[in-house]
Amino acid sequence: MCGVFGAFSKNGQSVLEDVYLGLYALQHRGQESSGMAWIAKNSAGCELRVTKGMGLVHLALDQKELSSSHSNCAIGHTRYSTAGGSFLSNAQPITANYSRGSVAIAHNGNITNATGIRRYLENRGAIFQSTSDTETILHLMAHQSHKPPLDALISALKTLKGAYSLAVIINNRLVAARDPWGFRPLVLGRRGETTYIASESCALDIVGATLVRDIKPGEVVVIDEDGEKSLLIPKETERKFTCAFEYVYFARPDSFLDGKSVYDVRKKLGQKLAQSAPCPEADMVTGMPDSGTISAMGYAEESGLRYEKAIVRNRYVGRTFIEPTQRVRELGVRIKLNPIGEIMKDKKIVIVDDSIVRGTTVQRVIAMVRESGAKEVHIRIASPPVKFPCYYGIDTPTSEELAAARMNIEELCKEIGADSLSYISVSEMLDAIGLPHHNVCTACFSGDYLNGGKDDELDL
Ligand code: SF4
Repeated sequence: MCGVFGAFSKNGQSVLEDVYLGLYALQHRGQESSGMAWIAKNSAGCELRVTKGMGLVHLALDQKELSSSHSNCAIGHTRYSTAGGSFLSNAQPITANYSRGSVAIAHNGNITNATGIRRYLENRGAIFQSTSDTETILHLMAHQSHKPPLDALISALKTLKGAYSLAVIINNRLVAARDPWGFRPLVLGRRGETTYIASESCALDIVGATLVRDIKPGEVVVIDEDGEKSLLIPKETERKFTCAFEYVYFARPDSFLDGKSVYDVRKKLGQKLAQSAPCPEADMVTGMPDSGTISAMGYAEESGLRYEKAIVRNRYVGRTFIEPTQRVRELGVRIKLNPIGEIMKDKKIVIVDDSIVRGTTVQRVIAMVRESGAKEVHIRIASPPVKFPCYYGIDTPTSEELAAARMNIEELCKEIGADSLSYISVSEMLDAIGLPHHNVCTACFSGDYLNGGKDDELDL
Protein backbone atom coordinates (compact mmCIF):
# COMPACT_ATOMS: atom_id res chain seq x y z
CA MET A 1 0.00 0.00 0.00
CA CYS A 2 1.21 3.51 -0.76
CA GLY A 3 -0.11 7.04 -1.02
CA VAL A 4 0.17 9.22 -4.13
CA PHE A 5 -0.55 12.90 -4.51
CA GLY A 6 -0.12 15.39 -7.37
CA ALA A 7 -0.92 19.01 -8.13
CA PHE A 8 -0.90 21.27 -11.17
CA SER A 9 -1.50 25.02 -11.02
CA LYS A 10 -2.65 26.71 -14.22
CA ASN A 11 -1.74 30.18 -12.97
CA GLY A 12 1.84 29.23 -12.19
CA GLN A 13 1.57 29.22 -8.40
CA SER A 14 3.92 26.85 -6.63
CA VAL A 15 2.26 23.63 -5.50
CA LEU A 16 5.21 22.17 -3.61
CA GLU A 17 3.81 22.98 -0.17
CA ASP A 18 0.44 21.49 -1.18
CA VAL A 19 2.07 18.24 -2.26
CA TYR A 20 4.03 18.09 0.99
CA LEU A 21 0.80 18.61 2.97
CA GLY A 22 -1.04 16.06 0.83
CA LEU A 23 1.62 13.47 1.59
CA TYR A 24 1.35 14.33 5.26
CA ALA A 25 -2.36 13.44 5.11
CA LEU A 26 -1.52 10.17 3.34
CA GLN A 27 1.13 9.11 5.82
CA HIS A 28 -1.06 6.22 7.03
CA ARG A 29 -0.72 4.59 3.58
CA GLY A 30 3.07 4.23 3.85
CA GLN A 31 5.76 5.05 6.32
CA GLU A 32 8.87 3.42 4.89
CA SER A 33 9.94 6.20 2.53
CA SER A 34 8.64 9.44 1.06
CA GLY A 35 9.50 11.43 -2.03
CA MET A 36 8.52 14.29 -4.30
CA ALA A 37 9.29 15.16 -7.93
CA TRP A 38 8.57 18.44 -9.65
CA ILE A 39 9.22 20.46 -12.76
CA ALA A 40 11.51 23.43 -12.12
CA LYS A 41 11.56 26.10 -14.78
CA ASN A 42 14.76 28.06 -15.34
CA SER A 43 16.41 30.07 -18.14
CA ALA A 44 17.57 26.82 -19.75
CA GLY A 45 14.01 25.40 -19.86
CA CYS A 46 12.32 22.80 -17.67
CA GLU A 47 14.16 20.46 -15.39
CA LEU A 48 12.84 17.47 -13.42
CA ARG A 49 13.87 17.57 -9.77
CA VAL A 50 13.40 14.87 -7.17
CA THR A 51 13.94 14.48 -3.46
CA LYS A 52 13.49 11.20 -1.57
CA GLY A 53 14.36 9.76 1.79
CA MET A 54 13.60 6.89 4.12
CA GLY A 55 10.94 7.28 6.78
CA LEU A 56 8.08 9.63 7.50
CA VAL A 57 7.34 12.65 5.30
CA HIS A 58 8.72 15.24 7.72
CA LEU A 59 11.95 13.27 8.20
CA ALA A 60 12.47 12.15 4.61
CA LEU A 61 11.85 15.42 2.79
CA ASP A 62 13.98 18.53 3.09
CA GLN A 63 11.53 21.33 3.86
CA LYS A 64 14.21 24.00 3.31
CA GLU A 65 14.85 22.72 -0.21
CA LEU A 66 11.12 22.66 -0.93
CA SER A 67 10.45 26.15 0.42
CA SER A 68 13.28 27.61 -1.67
CA SER A 69 12.00 25.89 -4.84
CA HIS A 70 9.09 26.76 -7.11
CA SER A 71 7.00 24.50 -9.32
CA ASN A 72 3.45 24.50 -10.66
CA CYS A 73 3.57 20.76 -11.41
CA ALA A 74 4.59 18.22 -8.76
CA ILE A 75 3.85 14.72 -7.47
CA GLY A 76 4.67 12.85 -4.27
CA HIS A 77 4.62 9.40 -2.74
CA THR A 78 4.52 7.71 0.64
CA ARG A 79 5.66 4.11 0.42
CA TYR A 80 5.28 0.83 2.10
CA SER A 81 6.69 -1.99 0.11
CA THR A 82 4.59 -4.63 -1.58
CA ALA A 83 7.02 -5.32 -4.45
CA GLY A 84 10.74 -4.65 -3.92
CA GLY A 85 12.48 -4.20 -0.56
CA SER A 86 12.44 -1.21 1.73
CA PHE A 87 15.50 0.60 0.33
CA LEU A 88 16.14 4.15 -0.80
CA SER A 89 16.69 2.84 -4.36
CA ASN A 90 13.03 1.69 -4.34
CA ALA A 91 11.69 4.98 -2.91
CA GLN A 92 9.39 6.88 -5.25
CA PRO A 93 8.73 8.87 -7.37
CA ILE A 94 10.88 6.96 -9.85
CA THR A 95 12.26 9.34 -12.47
CA ALA A 96 13.92 9.14 -15.87
CA ASN A 97 15.03 11.41 -18.66
CA TYR A 98 14.91 9.87 -22.11
CA SER A 99 14.81 11.02 -25.73
CA ARG A 100 11.19 12.18 -25.37
CA GLY A 101 11.68 14.19 -22.18
CA SER A 102 11.32 13.76 -18.43
CA VAL A 103 9.06 11.33 -16.61
CA ALA A 104 8.35 10.81 -12.90
CA ILE A 105 6.02 8.12 -11.57
CA ALA A 106 4.45 7.57 -8.13
CA HIS A 107 2.57 4.27 -7.86
CA ASN A 108 0.10 2.69 -5.45
CA GLY A 109 -0.64 -0.95 -6.18
CA ASN A 110 1.09 -4.07 -7.31
CA ILE A 111 1.77 -5.05 -10.93
CA THR A 112 1.21 -8.80 -10.99
CA ASN A 113 3.01 -9.46 -14.29
CA ALA A 114 6.02 -7.22 -13.48
CA THR A 115 8.45 -10.16 -13.23
CA GLY A 116 7.60 -11.34 -16.73
CA ILE A 117 7.85 -7.82 -18.16
CA ARG A 118 11.18 -7.31 -16.46
CA ARG A 119 12.56 -10.56 -17.87
CA TYR A 120 11.33 -9.61 -21.33
CA LEU A 121 12.97 -6.16 -21.16
CA GLU A 122 16.24 -7.40 -19.61
CA ASN A 123 16.57 -9.92 -22.43
CA ARG A 124 16.45 -6.90 -24.76
CA GLY A 125 19.16 -4.95 -22.93
CA ALA A 126 17.30 -3.02 -20.23
CA ILE A 127 19.14 -2.49 -16.94
CA PHE A 128 16.91 -1.79 -13.95
CA GLN A 129 18.01 0.54 -11.16
CA SER A 130 15.60 -0.81 -8.55
CA THR A 131 13.68 -3.95 -7.67
CA SER A 132 10.38 -2.05 -7.68
CA ASP A 133 7.62 -3.17 -10.06
CA THR A 134 6.96 0.51 -10.89
CA GLU A 135 10.21 0.83 -12.84
CA THR A 136 8.83 -1.54 -15.47
CA ILE A 137 6.45 1.25 -16.56
CA LEU A 138 9.36 3.60 -17.34
CA HIS A 139 11.19 0.89 -19.30
CA LEU A 140 8.06 0.00 -21.26
CA MET A 141 7.72 3.70 -22.17
CA ALA A 142 11.37 3.96 -23.26
CA HIS A 143 10.89 0.77 -25.27
CA GLN A 144 8.36 2.69 -27.38
CA SER A 145 10.32 5.91 -27.78
CA HIS A 146 8.96 6.27 -31.35
CA LYS A 147 5.63 7.30 -29.75
CA PRO A 148 4.83 10.59 -27.97
CA PRO A 149 5.37 9.98 -24.23
CA LEU A 150 1.67 10.09 -23.31
CA ASP A 151 0.89 7.46 -25.97
CA ALA A 152 3.87 5.43 -24.76
CA LEU A 153 2.52 5.60 -21.19
CA ILE A 154 -0.96 4.46 -22.21
CA SER A 155 0.50 1.69 -24.30
CA ALA A 156 2.68 0.62 -21.32
CA LEU A 157 -0.36 0.60 -19.04
CA LYS A 158 -2.21 -1.63 -21.48
CA THR A 159 0.49 -4.26 -20.89
CA LEU A 160 0.13 -4.27 -17.11
CA LYS A 161 -1.90 -6.64 -14.99
CA GLY A 162 -2.81 -6.06 -11.38
CA ALA A 163 -3.31 -2.85 -9.49
CA TYR A 164 -2.02 0.64 -10.14
CA SER A 165 -3.14 4.10 -9.23
CA LEU A 166 -0.53 6.48 -10.59
CA ALA A 167 0.49 10.11 -10.29
CA VAL A 168 2.82 10.88 -13.21
CA ILE A 169 4.69 13.90 -14.52
CA ILE A 170 5.40 13.84 -18.23
CA ASN A 171 7.38 16.94 -19.13
CA ASN A 172 5.17 19.76 -17.79
CA ARG A 173 1.95 17.74 -17.52
CA LEU A 174 0.38 16.01 -14.58
CA VAL A 175 -1.18 12.65 -15.39
CA ALA A 176 -3.41 10.47 -13.20
CA ALA A 177 -4.08 6.85 -14.15
CA ARG A 178 -6.12 4.10 -12.49
CA ASP A 179 -5.96 0.47 -13.56
CA PRO A 180 -8.92 -0.86 -15.57
CA TRP A 181 -10.11 -2.90 -12.57
CA GLY A 182 -9.98 0.06 -10.15
CA PHE A 183 -8.43 -1.83 -7.22
CA ARG A 184 -6.73 1.15 -5.58
CA PRO A 185 -8.50 4.46 -5.00
CA LEU A 186 -7.63 7.71 -6.79
CA VAL A 187 -9.56 10.98 -6.70
CA LEU A 188 -9.54 14.30 -8.49
CA GLY A 189 -9.88 17.60 -6.63
CA ARG A 190 -9.78 21.32 -7.31
CA ARG A 191 -9.08 24.60 -5.57
CA GLY A 192 -9.28 27.65 -7.82
CA GLU A 193 -6.86 27.19 -10.72
CA THR A 194 -5.12 24.21 -9.14
CA THR A 195 -6.09 20.60 -9.90
CA TYR A 196 -5.12 17.78 -7.55
CA ILE A 197 -4.95 14.01 -7.67
CA ALA A 198 -4.80 11.99 -4.46
CA SER A 199 -5.10 8.43 -3.18
CA GLU A 200 -7.80 9.56 -0.75
CA SER A 201 -10.05 12.57 -0.39
CA CYS A 202 -8.68 13.34 3.11
CA ALA A 203 -5.56 14.67 1.36
CA LEU A 204 -7.70 17.15 -0.61
CA ASP A 205 -9.22 18.46 2.62
CA ILE A 206 -5.83 19.43 4.01
CA VAL A 207 -5.04 21.69 1.01
CA GLY A 208 -8.53 23.21 0.99
CA ALA A 209 -9.50 21.51 -2.29
CA THR A 210 -12.94 20.14 -3.14
CA LEU A 211 -13.44 16.54 -4.17
CA VAL A 212 -14.51 16.62 -7.83
CA ARG A 213 -14.83 12.87 -8.46
CA ASP A 214 -13.12 9.50 -8.39
CA ILE A 215 -10.83 8.77 -11.32
CA LYS A 216 -12.67 5.97 -13.13
CA PRO A 217 -11.19 2.48 -13.48
CA GLY A 218 -9.18 2.45 -16.72
CA GLU A 219 -9.13 6.24 -16.96
CA VAL A 220 -6.12 8.44 -17.66
CA VAL A 221 -6.59 12.14 -16.82
CA VAL A 222 -4.10 14.58 -18.34
CA ILE A 223 -3.85 17.96 -16.64
CA ASP A 224 -1.92 20.83 -18.21
CA GLU A 225 -2.22 24.52 -19.07
CA ASP A 226 -5.06 23.75 -21.50
CA GLY A 227 -7.17 22.11 -18.77
CA GLU A 228 -8.07 18.46 -18.27
CA LYS A 229 -8.43 15.68 -20.77
CA SER A 230 -9.84 12.24 -20.00
CA LEU A 231 -8.55 9.23 -21.95
CA LEU A 232 -9.08 5.49 -21.60
CA ILE A 233 -6.62 2.63 -21.31
CA PRO A 234 -7.75 0.41 -24.19
CA LYS A 235 -8.10 -2.82 -22.28
CA GLU A 236 -11.08 -5.12 -22.12
CA THR A 237 -12.01 -5.97 -18.56
CA GLU A 238 -15.06 -7.83 -17.44
CA ARG A 239 -15.55 -6.18 -14.10
CA LYS A 240 -14.45 -3.17 -12.04
CA PHE A 241 -13.41 -3.80 -8.47
CA THR A 242 -12.78 -1.67 -5.48
CA CYS A 243 -10.79 -3.14 -2.60
CA ALA A 244 -12.93 -4.10 0.40
CA PHE A 245 -9.92 -3.87 2.69
CA GLU A 246 -9.61 -0.13 2.01
CA TYR A 247 -12.95 0.34 3.78
CA VAL A 248 -12.22 -2.18 6.51
CA TYR A 249 -8.75 -1.07 7.50
CA PHE A 250 -6.55 0.96 5.26
CA ALA A 251 -8.21 4.22 4.24
CA ARG A 252 -8.64 7.09 6.66
CA PRO A 253 -12.19 7.33 8.05
CA ASP A 254 -12.49 10.94 6.84
CA SER A 255 -12.06 9.79 3.22
CA PHE A 256 -14.71 9.02 0.60
CA LEU A 257 -13.89 6.11 -1.71
CA ASP A 258 -15.98 5.49 -4.81
CA GLY A 259 -18.60 7.83 -3.33
CA LYS A 260 -18.82 5.96 -0.01
CA SER A 261 -17.80 7.42 3.34
CA VAL A 262 -15.24 5.16 5.00
CA TYR A 263 -16.54 6.28 8.41
CA ASP A 264 -20.12 5.26 7.55
CA VAL A 265 -19.00 1.89 6.22
CA ARG A 266 -17.00 1.12 9.38
CA LYS A 267 -19.95 2.09 11.57
CA LYS A 268 -22.26 -0.19 9.56
CA LEU A 269 -19.75 -3.05 9.79
CA GLY A 270 -19.96 -2.74 13.58
CA GLN A 271 -23.77 -2.63 13.52
CA LYS A 272 -23.94 -5.76 11.36
CA LEU A 273 -21.49 -7.50 13.68
CA ALA A 274 -23.72 -6.68 16.67
CA GLN A 275 -26.71 -8.20 14.84
CA SER A 276 -24.99 -11.42 13.78
CA ALA A 277 -22.65 -11.88 16.77
CA PRO A 278 -24.26 -10.31 19.84
CA CYS A 279 -22.75 -10.57 23.30
CA PRO A 280 -25.62 -9.65 25.66
CA GLU A 281 -23.77 -10.72 28.80
CA ALA A 282 -20.99 -8.13 28.24
CA ASP A 283 -20.60 -5.01 30.40
CA MET A 284 -19.03 -2.83 27.74
CA VAL A 285 -17.64 -2.56 24.22
CA THR A 286 -14.29 -1.12 23.27
CA GLY A 287 -12.43 -0.84 19.98
CA MET A 288 -8.91 -1.80 19.05
CA PRO A 289 -7.34 1.59 18.35
CA ASP A 290 -7.49 3.09 15.84
CA SER A 291 -9.08 1.15 13.02
CA GLY A 292 -11.48 -0.86 15.25
CA THR A 293 -12.92 2.08 17.16
CA ILE A 294 -15.57 3.24 14.68
CA SER A 295 -16.91 -0.29 14.21
CA ALA A 296 -16.90 -0.67 18.01
CA MET A 297 -19.08 2.45 18.25
CA GLY A 298 -21.44 0.92 15.69
CA TYR A 299 -21.50 -2.35 17.67
CA ALA A 300 -22.25 -0.51 20.93
CA GLU A 301 -24.98 1.60 19.32
CA GLU A 302 -26.70 -1.42 17.80
CA SER A 303 -26.40 -3.66 20.86
CA GLY A 304 -27.21 -1.04 23.47
CA LEU A 305 -23.99 -1.82 25.36
CA ARG A 306 -21.86 0.94 26.88
CA TYR A 307 -18.91 2.10 24.74
CA GLU A 308 -15.65 2.85 26.55
CA LYS A 309 -12.34 3.94 25.11
CA ALA A 310 -10.63 1.36 27.30
CA ILE A 311 -7.48 0.75 25.22
CA VAL A 312 -5.18 3.70 24.60
CA ARG A 313 -2.81 3.91 21.69
CA ASN A 314 0.53 5.65 21.77
CA ARG A 315 0.10 7.98 18.80
CA TYR A 316 3.80 8.18 18.10
CA VAL A 317 4.22 4.54 17.14
CA GLY A 318 3.51 3.35 13.59
CA ARG A 319 0.79 0.87 12.67
CA THR A 320 2.13 -2.63 13.37
CA PHE A 321 0.70 -4.00 10.13
CA ILE A 322 3.11 -1.84 8.14
CA GLU A 323 6.29 -2.61 10.04
CA PRO A 324 8.31 -5.17 8.18
CA THR A 325 9.69 -7.78 10.61
CA GLN A 326 7.96 -10.02 13.12
CA ARG A 327 10.29 -8.86 15.91
CA VAL A 328 9.52 -5.19 15.31
CA ARG A 329 5.84 -6.08 15.07
CA GLU A 330 5.88 -7.78 18.46
CA LEU A 331 7.77 -4.93 20.10
CA GLY A 332 5.36 -2.52 18.41
CA VAL A 333 2.31 -4.10 20.06
CA ARG A 334 3.87 -3.92 23.50
CA ILE A 335 4.76 -0.25 23.29
CA LYS A 336 1.78 0.81 21.21
CA LEU A 337 -1.34 -0.18 23.12
CA ASN A 338 -2.19 0.13 26.80
CA PRO A 339 -5.47 -0.94 28.43
CA ILE A 340 -6.94 1.21 31.20
CA GLY A 341 -7.10 -1.30 34.06
CA GLU A 342 -9.50 0.71 36.18
CA ILE A 343 -12.23 0.59 33.52
CA MET A 344 -11.74 -3.11 32.80
CA LYS A 345 -11.41 -4.61 36.26
CA ASP A 346 -13.92 -7.44 36.84
CA LYS A 347 -15.76 -6.59 33.62
CA LYS A 348 -16.89 -8.72 30.68
CA ILE A 349 -15.54 -6.89 27.65
CA VAL A 350 -16.24 -7.00 23.92
CA ILE A 351 -13.23 -5.83 21.88
CA VAL A 352 -14.01 -4.98 18.26
CA ASP A 353 -11.12 -5.08 15.79
CA ASP A 354 -11.10 -4.46 12.03
CA SER A 355 -9.39 -7.74 11.10
CA ILE A 356 -7.05 -10.50 12.26
CA VAL A 357 -4.04 -10.96 10.00
CA ARG A 358 -1.26 -12.82 11.84
CA GLY A 359 -3.09 -12.78 15.17
CA THR A 360 -0.11 -11.36 17.05
CA THR A 361 -1.66 -8.03 18.02
CA VAL A 362 -4.99 -9.36 19.23
CA GLN A 363 -3.30 -12.16 21.22
CA ARG A 364 -1.07 -9.69 23.06
CA VAL A 365 -3.89 -7.25 23.69
CA ILE A 366 -6.09 -10.00 25.18
CA ALA A 367 -3.22 -10.99 27.50
CA MET A 368 -2.78 -7.34 28.56
CA VAL A 369 -6.53 -6.88 29.10
CA ARG A 370 -6.68 -10.01 31.27
CA GLU A 371 -3.67 -8.78 33.26
CA SER A 372 -5.64 -5.57 33.81
CA GLY A 373 -8.31 -7.59 35.62
CA ALA A 374 -10.97 -8.16 32.91
CA LYS A 375 -13.22 -11.13 33.72
CA GLU A 376 -14.07 -12.11 30.13
CA VAL A 377 -12.74 -10.97 26.74
CA HIS A 378 -14.96 -11.46 23.67
CA ILE A 379 -13.43 -10.62 20.29
CA ARG A 380 -15.63 -9.40 17.44
CA ILE A 381 -14.07 -8.81 14.02
CA ALA A 382 -15.64 -6.31 11.63
CA SER A 383 -14.57 -8.23 8.51
CA PRO A 384 -14.56 -11.90 7.42
CA PRO A 385 -11.53 -14.13 8.18
CA VAL A 386 -8.47 -13.12 6.07
CA LYS A 387 -7.46 -16.46 4.55
CA PHE A 388 -5.72 -15.57 1.29
CA PRO A 389 -2.85 -13.25 0.30
CA CYS A 390 -3.45 -10.04 -1.65
CA TYR A 391 -1.70 -9.59 -4.98
CA TYR A 392 -3.11 -6.13 -5.61
CA GLY A 393 -1.03 -3.85 -3.43
CA ILE A 394 -1.75 -4.71 0.20
CA ASP A 395 1.00 -6.44 2.08
CA THR A 396 -0.94 -9.35 3.54
CA PRO A 397 1.48 -12.19 4.33
CA THR A 398 1.52 -15.64 2.74
CA SER A 399 -1.31 -18.07 3.54
CA GLU A 400 0.94 -19.93 6.01
CA GLU A 401 1.29 -16.75 8.09
CA LEU A 402 -2.40 -15.84 8.01
CA ALA A 403 -3.94 -16.96 11.29
CA ALA A 404 -7.39 -17.69 9.82
CA ALA A 405 -5.87 -19.78 7.02
CA ARG A 406 -4.10 -22.04 9.49
CA MET A 407 -6.92 -22.50 11.99
CA ASN A 408 -10.68 -22.63 12.16
CA ILE A 409 -12.49 -20.04 14.29
CA GLU A 410 -12.61 -22.24 17.44
CA GLU A 411 -8.89 -23.03 17.18
CA LEU A 412 -8.05 -19.39 16.58
CA CYS A 413 -10.18 -18.31 19.54
CA LYS A 414 -8.18 -20.68 21.75
CA GLU A 415 -4.87 -19.60 20.22
CA ILE A 416 -5.45 -15.89 20.91
CA GLY A 417 -6.86 -16.59 24.38
CA ALA A 418 -10.35 -15.12 23.88
CA ASP A 419 -13.57 -16.29 25.57
CA SER A 420 -15.36 -16.05 22.22
CA LEU A 421 -14.50 -14.97 18.68
CA SER A 422 -16.84 -14.01 15.83
CA TYR A 423 -16.53 -12.43 12.40
CA ILE A 424 -19.01 -10.95 9.96
CA SER A 425 -19.64 -12.76 6.68
CA VAL A 426 -18.51 -11.64 3.21
CA SER A 427 -22.10 -10.75 2.25
CA GLU A 428 -22.60 -8.69 5.43
CA MET A 429 -19.38 -6.82 4.68
CA LEU A 430 -20.50 -6.16 1.10
CA ASP A 431 -23.89 -4.89 2.33
CA ALA A 432 -22.11 -2.46 4.68
CA ILE A 433 -19.90 -1.16 1.85
CA GLY A 434 -23.03 -0.57 -0.21
CA LEU A 435 -21.50 -0.90 -3.69
CA PRO A 436 -22.79 -3.55 -6.12
CA HIS A 437 -21.36 -6.80 -4.75
CA HIS A 438 -19.76 -7.83 -8.06
CA ASN A 439 -17.80 -4.52 -8.08
CA VAL A 440 -15.91 -5.19 -4.85
CA CYS A 441 -12.77 -7.30 -4.52
CA THR A 442 -12.99 -9.71 -1.58
CA ALA A 443 -10.20 -12.07 -2.71
CA CYS A 444 -8.26 -12.09 0.57
CA PHE A 445 -11.45 -13.15 2.37
CA SER A 446 -13.06 -15.39 -0.25
CA GLY A 447 -10.19 -16.55 -2.49
CA ASP A 448 -12.09 -15.21 -5.50
CA TYR A 449 -9.21 -13.61 -7.42
CA LEU A 450 -11.14 -11.51 -9.86
CA ASN A 451 -8.13 -10.59 -11.96
CA GLY A 452 -6.42 -13.95 -12.06
CA GLY A 453 -4.27 -13.53 -8.92
CA LYS A 454 -0.49 -13.66 -9.01
CA ASP A 455 0.52 -13.84 -12.59
CA ASP A 456 3.89 -13.60 -14.21
CA GLU A 457 2.55 -14.22 -17.68
CA LEU A 458 3.63 -11.75 -20.31
CA ASP A 459 1.15 -10.43 -22.78
CA LEU A 460 3.03 -7.78 -24.78
S1 SF4 B 1 -7.31 -9.19 -2.14
FE1 SF4 B 1 -8.14 -8.13 -0.31
S2 SF4 B 1 -6.67 -6.50 0.12
FE2 SF4 B 1 -6.27 -7.21 -1.98
S3 SF4 B 1 -7.47 -5.86 -3.32
FE3 SF4 B 1 -8.75 -7.64 -2.89
S4 SF4 B 1 -9.92 -7.07 -1.04
FE4 SF4 B 1 -8.24 -5.63 -1.23
